[in-house]
Formats: sequence, C-alpha cells, structure tokens
Amino acid sequence: MSMVMFTVLYPELGAAETRCIILQSGGRWHRREGKEEEFALFELYCAEPSCDCRRAMFNVVSKRLGRHVATISHAFDPPGEKSAVSEQTFLDPLNRQSDLSEDLLAIFTQRVLMDSDYCKRLERHYAMFKDVVNNWHHPLHEKIRPYFDELEYEPRRKISDIPSWHVRNRIRKNRRNRK
Ligand SMILES: [Zn+2]
Repeated sequence: MSMVMFTVLYPELGAAETRCIILQSGGRWHRREGKEEEFALFELYCAEPSCDCRRAMFNVVSKRLGRHVATISHAFDPPGEKSAVSEQTFLDPLNRQSDLSEDLLAIFTQRVLMDSDYCKRLERHYAMFKDVVNNWHHPLHEKIRPYFDELEYEPRRKISDIPSWHVRNRIRKNRRNRK
C-alpha cells in the first residue's frame, strides 16, 4: 500500500489546513531553553483503489531541524475484534522515528486528537483524497496515477492488455539486444 501526501493532490488546501504542534518554552514537553518549537503534521492517505482503510499517516516535521522526526499512524475508528492492529494510534514501525517520537505521539493523542473539528477535517481530507483515487474521471486523477502499480491495480485485465506491460517488455528486449 502506498501512502501519499495530501498536498500532492491539494497543495493549497493542504498548506492551509496542515496542523502544527507548537511547544511553548517551559511547557511540559518542551526540552530546549528559550524558543518555542514547531512541528508540522503532514497528512498522508492510502492510494490503493477501492481500499477503504479509513486511516491517516502523519509525517511530523520539525521546523527548527527541517527534518522528518516522527511518523504516526492513526485509524479513524477504534480497532474492532478482527483488526490486524490492536492500537488506534501508534508510531509506525516501518517509517522514520527519532528520540522525539514518543513525546510527539503523546501530544498527538492527548491534545491534537481532542480537537473534534480537526478530526472531522481529517475525515474530510480522506474522503477528498479517496474520491480522486477511485474516480478515473476526477480532474486530479492524473496526479495520483504515477503512484499506482498498474500490474497490481488491474487484476481482472490480462497483463498483455496493459500498455505499461508492453513498454516494460520493449525496454527489456532492447536491453537484451544490446548485450
Ligand atoms: Zn487503504
């Protein structure tokens, strides 16, 4: 499953509606003297057609360091009995983390997610994103196509009907001929 930044499809809206965590100097989580610290929560959603996983991933980027310092995975719904993952919100083990991750996760679950308007905004962004992924006629659909793996994407079509298969084959053939 590939997770893609919301801003890839909606750069302006994404920039306007990306939440930041600002830590005031002297506050509970603030570790450095003096200045406040700011972290942006960049949203990513799943670009798999017809998958309705109802989750968001967040790349947490430190403004001071200019670096991605934590990755948080969050499901909109609490896990059910059959869920593969038992936590609703957690640090993604496959993606980037740092020594700031645990604190950022605590702030995210204890503060950010308490804001119901923000939670609604995430669901709205998810719906907008999924609409583009699933609707071939959507004006933004072209932007998401490069993130699809075409061979996986169209299981009911014969592989040889997929244009990119022919292109790949031609490239392979040319390489073979050159040897
Ligand atoms: Zn999904």
